[in-house]
Amino acid sequence: MGSLASERTVTGWAARDAAGHLSPYTYTLRKTGPEDVVVKVMYCGICHTDIHQAKNHLGASKYPMVPGHEVVGEVVEVGPEVTKYGVGDVVGVGVIVGCCRDCRPCKANVEQYCNKRIWSYNDVYTDGRPTQGGFSSAMIVDQKFVVKIPAGLAPEQAAPLLCAGVTVYSPLKHFGLMSPGLRGGILGLGGVGHMGVKVAKSMGHHVTVISSSGKKRAEAMDDLGADAYLISSDAGAMAAAADTLDYIIDTVPVKHPLEPYLALLKMDGKLVLMGVIAEPLSFVSPMVMLGRKSITGSFIGSMEETEEVLRFCVEKGLTSQIEVVKMDYLNQALERLERNDVRYRFVVDVAGSNIEDGGAPA
Ligand SMILES: [Zn+2]
Ligand SMILES: [Zn+2]
Repeated sequence: MGSLASERTVTGWAARDAAGHLSPYTYTLRKTGPEDVVVKVMYCGICHTDIHQAKNHLGASKYPMVPGHEVVGEVVEVGPEVTKYGVGDVVGVGVIVGCCRDCRPCKANVEQYCNKRIWSYNDVYTDGRPTQGGFSSAMIVDQKFVVKIPAGLAPEQAAPLLCAGVTVYSPLKHFGLMSPGLRGGILGLGGVGHMGVKVAKSMGHHVTVISSSGKKRAEAMDDLGADAYLISSDAGAMAAAADTLDYIIDTVPVKHPLEPYLALLKMDGKLVLMGVIAEPLSFVSPMVMLGRKSITGSFIGSMEETEEVLRFCVEKGLTSQIEVVKMDYLNQALERLERNDVRYRFVVDVAGSNIEDGGAPA
């Protein structure tokens, strides 16, 4: 890598078209600006969004694209005005790397809701260059969008917290749903759902996993520690569970009926949507009127909340269930994730892979 004055040449794994196959790609990073942190990537988690972006499911993908937005790495250089970090610190980078700093969300430190947010990859940075993500040897990120990984948290464990973890933590905090004793539902048991069970259990909640079949009962109850398991097609069980939940974290990323789940909520209960669904969802109004229930949504979390969820996990001894793989397994991992064949998050050992030479173990 180059010095302060020059651009760095790095190698990432990029998709070249909507087939979404990733392969080594060499590119340059911007010169280190005054508030920039240069991060040598150690680990990067694989999020479902990476598949959507690599395969252009959302229709706005630009190639070559290096995905990855659950990035943990070591600081190897800082700009002269960087105050929060020093060389050698282990830090994290998540879903966004820029915002306008001037709008109401930015001023309220919820920059994830800034309309001018800059995504960690598949976006354009303020200097006109494409942003590229964490399946790469290094990233340069403004210090505002970097968090310190606290002592006591293994770097590979921290990776899924930077997107999946903060995504469930943020709405529970914002909606005042952190008190012990609450009863929560987790709908869908993928990367975000598994984190939802763990975070909610660590808050002292009674957690019900809601699923379309009985297939995940043992892992929900035994591996993740859920308190109850509800099969949505079991009309009797659903009726018995009516009016019992304070909230439901709905992670299902495809169109699904809302009324069966609204019926499970108590008065003032909240259905929090976090799956990206491009079709209208429907319900009849008495389902929310009778019980003053809310249907709402939430999107990742702020930088402050990201730091909080990292500390929360250290305090509670919360660990995510991950499968660590090398770069040369990245395409297989994406395929397995697409089939939901992972318990529950892939994390790529980027630094431990020989990234320039096809990603085999170094
Ligand atoms: Zn994500
Ligand atoms: Zn803004």
